[in-house]
Order: sequence, then structure tokens, then C-alpha cells
Amino acid sequence: MVRIPFKRLFLIIKMYPPQVGYFRPESLGEALEFLEREEAKVLAGGQSLIPMLKLRVLRPKYLVDIGGLKELSYIKEGDTISIGATTRHFELASRRIRGLEILQEAASKVGDVQVRNVGTIGGSVCNADPAADYPAVLTALDATMKVRSKKGTREVKAHDFFKGPFSVDLNPGEVLEEIRIPRLEGYRQTYRKVVRRAGDFALAGLALAIKLDSGVVKDVRIAFTGVSQGPHRAKEAEKVLRDSKLTKDVIKRASEASTSGANPPSDSRGSSWYRLEVMKRLLQTSLEVMANES
Ligand SMILES: Cc1cc2nc3c(=O)[nH]c(=O)nc-3n(C[C@H](O)[C@H](O)[C@H](O)COP(=O)(O)OP(=O)(O)OC[C@H]3O[C@@H](n4cnc5c(N)ncnc54)[C@H](O)[C@@H]3O)c2cc1C
Repeated sequence: MVRIPFKRLFLIIKMYPPQVGYFRPESLGEALEFLEREEAKVLAGGQSLIPMLKLRVLRPKYLVDIGGLKELSYIKEGDTISIGATTRHFELASRRIRGLEILQEAASKVGDVQVRNVGTIGGSVCNADPAADYPAVLTALDATMKVRSKKGTREVKAHDFFKGPFSVDLNPGEVLEEIRIPRLEGYRQTYRKVVRRAGDFALAGLALAIKLDSGVVKDVRIAFTGVSQGPHRAKEAEKVLRDSKLTKDVIKRASEASTSGANPPSDSRGSSWYRLEVMKRLLQTSLEVMANES
């Protein structure tokens, strides 16, 4: 018999998720019934959940696999854009939505091709990684989350939905069904992120949407990812910009103000100080480009 040292055996065991029951519902209704009865976790693309199971961070009794539910995979266009929770990153990355171009830009920057082919917007949003791309975009755009359970439906604003690192406003038995985003007609929009390596999570990322009228800022939405416990809406910078022209001085003051209230971590991707500098530079250069185009 081959004797495997205990240390290696432990590593080999950890490469696999623990034993877990698996249920593949045929409808959202069936999924909600199961979630009401059992101690279960929703599985969508598995890009974040499976690694967490392997690391034994989570140990649910059952997984309810909603990844194949066609009724949750759609993009509906109107004054409000409605996106089903199991819509995959690649579908958003390959579709230009008028008045919501920023979403395509953000989706195309999530991980790599493999991740985008399997991962879903709902999974990313419910996972609420502080460095994920969509939460900043959805916070800047004042998106609404439609949440369903056996008891009914409720709506939560993005600002209230993201409660902290890996924590969202979802109760046991609830599923994120849809994300609703108002169309931003006439806004210039951009999502930019700085990464240490291609395909990585953001060291810092910026979601920016701005409406100009004769060079004057009529409305502006700014949110960052990777610089706080969750998405950071830069309200102070928005205040500096609103009703002003994009002059050098205004841009500089807005960039400085963007870090107000941010509390970036220091980790292997970069120090807290470096992230604050990246925030300022991301906003400054993005605004300079927009000022030159106007
Ligand atoms: C190598 C790699 C690189 C990555 N890079 C990036 C990146 O650059 N930027 C980025 O933003 N993300 C990145 N990700 C994460 C990726 O976007 C995942 O796809 C996403 O975080 C989770 O989506 P999923 O569909 O795989 O969800 P899952 O892993 O299936 O689920 C994630 C969590 O959400 C819950 N959940 C899923 N769907 C629902 C729902 N509808 N209602 C309620 N709860 C739900 C699950 O129970 C679980 O807790 C990366 C992942 C990998 C593996």
C-alpha cells in the first residue's frame, strides 16, 4: 500500500468539494420550493461557489443549480433594461445596449474567456466580492435588484443590496431574479480597471457616467471597486463636478475628492496608499478624455 504523508493527503482532499446534495430544478418556482424546505445554496456558474466549497468556507447540505434555467437568462430593453440573473458575462460582453454601453465594457473585463463563458451576472452580484466589476457599475447606475422567494417579490436598490464583503441583502430561501437598470440616454460612460495581471480582479476600478450640456456637467455618477468593503460611490467628487465645466482645476479637485470615505485594503495586489493614487488617476484621466471630446 502507498503511504501518503498526512500533509499531502489533506491537500488532496481539499482539491475536491465536500459531499453535497445536488438538485437541478426545471423552473424558478421549483427552485424556490426546494430552497424553502432545505438548507441549500444556489449554484449558478459555480465560478466563485465551487472554489469556496473546495476551501471548506461553505458547507451547504444541498446545491440548487439554477444555471440552466432559461427563464432567468435574458436582456430586455426599454426605458429600463432588465437582465435575468443567470445571464452570462459573455452574453453581456457581446451585446451593446444603447444607453448602457458601460455594462458591455465591464462584462468584457470580468476574468478571462473561460470565466465569462460560465459565470453569471447574478452570481457575481450575490457573491459581492469587494473587487468585483459589476457592483460598482450597478451602484453608479442606481440599479434595482428584484428578489424572489416563496413568500413573494421585493425590490432592493444596489446601494442597500451590497452590505459588505461577500455579504448582500438576501435572506435564506431568496433568489436574485432580475437586475433593473435605468437607461442613461445621452451620457458618456466608461468602466476602467487596473489589474496586476491580465484576467485578474481589479486592484481598483472606476465606473463613470456623465451628462454634459454645452460643456457643463448636468449629471454624473461615479463608483469605484476594490477600494472599500463594497462598491464606493464617490459622492464628494460628484458634488464638485455637478453644474461645473470640466476645467483642469475642477477635474483635479474632483479626483482629490473621489477618495473621500474610501478605505482601500493593503494586500498582494497593492498597498492602500497606491490604490488611493490609482483612484485619483483613473478619474482624472477619464474626465480629461471626456473634456477633450466635448
Ligand atoms: C479565475 C477567475 C477570475 C475572475 N475574475 C473576475 C474579475 O476580474 N472580475 C469579477 O467581477 N469577477 C471575477 N471572477 C468571478 C466571476 O465573475 C464569477 O463568475 C462570479 O463571481 C460568480 O458568478 P457565478 O455565476 O459563477 O456564481 P456562483 O459561483 O455559482 O455563485 C456565487 C454566489 O452567489 C450565489 N448566487 C448565485 N446566483 C444567485 C442568485 N441568482 N440568487 C441568489 N444567490 C445566487 C451563490 O449561492 C454563491 O454564494 C473571477 C473568477 C475566477 C474563477
